[in-house]
Amino acid sequence: MDTLPFQRPITDFFCHNQECPDHGLKTKGNLKFQGFSDKRKTIRMVYCRTCKKSHSERKGTALSGVKLRYDKAISVFEHLREGVGQRAIGRLVKVDKDTVARLAYKAGKHAVLMHNELVEYSPKSREIQMDEKWAFIGKKKNQLSEEEKKVGNLGDRWDHVAQDAESRLILSLIPGKRTDQACIDLIKDVKERTRSRADIYFTSDEHPGYEKGIEINYGKKRRKKRKSKLKRNTHQLELWKEEEITVTPSALIQLPPELVYATVRKTRKGSRIVKVVQTLVFGAVMMLSFFLERSKASKTINTSFVERVNGTDRSQNARKRRKANFFSRKHEIHDLVGYFIGYSYNFCWTVRTLRKKKLDGSFRQNTPAMAAKLSDHIWSVAEWVTRPVKL
Ligand SMILES: [Zn+2]
Repeated sequence: MDTLPFQRPITDFFCHNQECPDHGLKTKGNLKFQGFSDKRKTIRMVYCRTCKKSHSERKGTALSGVKLRYDKAISVFEHLREGVGQRAIGRLVKVDKDTVARLAYKAGKHAVLMHNELVEYSPKSREIQMDEKWAFIGKKKNQLSEEEKKVGNLGDRWDHVAQDAESRLILSLIPGKRTDQACIDLIKDVKERTRSRADIYFTSDEHPGYEKGIEINYGKKRRKKRKSKLKRNTHQLELWKEEEITVTPSALIQLPPELVYATVRKTRKGSRIVKVVQTLVFGAVMMLSFFLERSKASKTINTSFVERVNGTDRSQNARKRRKANFFSRKHEIHDLVGYFIGYSYNFCWTVRTLRKKKLDGSFRQNTPAMAAKLSDHIWSVAEWVTRPVKL
């Protein structure tokens, strides 16, 4: 039996025709539903009065070009979100495993564009925790042959995650090798999504890439001191030059005074944490205590929230589960599934610790996007995958 497709109102759509003067606009009232694109009359056509062109309601969604029955396709997406492996999904939903892979690919591409539209700006984000989560493609690092090491597409793969600790919103996800560049890209993305506001409190582990990332993205070069006349025309100039070379690059970088960055290093004995070292890397102690005072999430320097979301993600993503026989064979699909699960988590996943008690004693559940004031309701997976994005 078919389930009824998620019925989006016409106001959720926009004209996809790039030559149309109303292209991409949702509020012009230029659109109406007119006819269907399939014989069974389940997929509506959206007609634009301005350019007199029409397109399927699936254009720009994760279901674009999908021939599979609607209810089966949604079921595949829901299983993917719940961390079922691709082969198991194929068996459960009774579709070919390659169909599952194709849908996973579409969901990932769609999720990136969704995130860029829905979390283009997160005005409430002010406490960012960053972490890297390990996974592997095909083989673990020590199983790689010399040849495979050279090619570099198999082996360790790290998700670099930046999370708003207060709302639990995943602000940015950068999958890749564990390099400084990945951290620099992560922080660049955070900066863009918070519109370059500098009153941000960052925390992470002691991976050096983050420190570099903050310096490169938020730092300004200190203006070099003018050389005095005396220095300019005597041998002292040479001395001054020499001195300049010995200055470490970071001393030439000036960070905004309101920015704070602190790290946490945990020493473990077996599975027990025996020692926690907290370091204030950038910013003043006064600012740090101000940030901790105003924080809805933290009382001390910590990375608990991003570690928690990494744990949640592992349970939702079969290919990132530890000590299990799931793994990815290609990094492209691995990354795309990561985007789909990570970014739809913001809108579809309710976080227990974000729930609010109502007057009658029951709870109002909240998603990270609701806590970050980017959404007013819990989204279903069907609602997520059928929302059109600009291509
Ligand atoms: Zn149009």
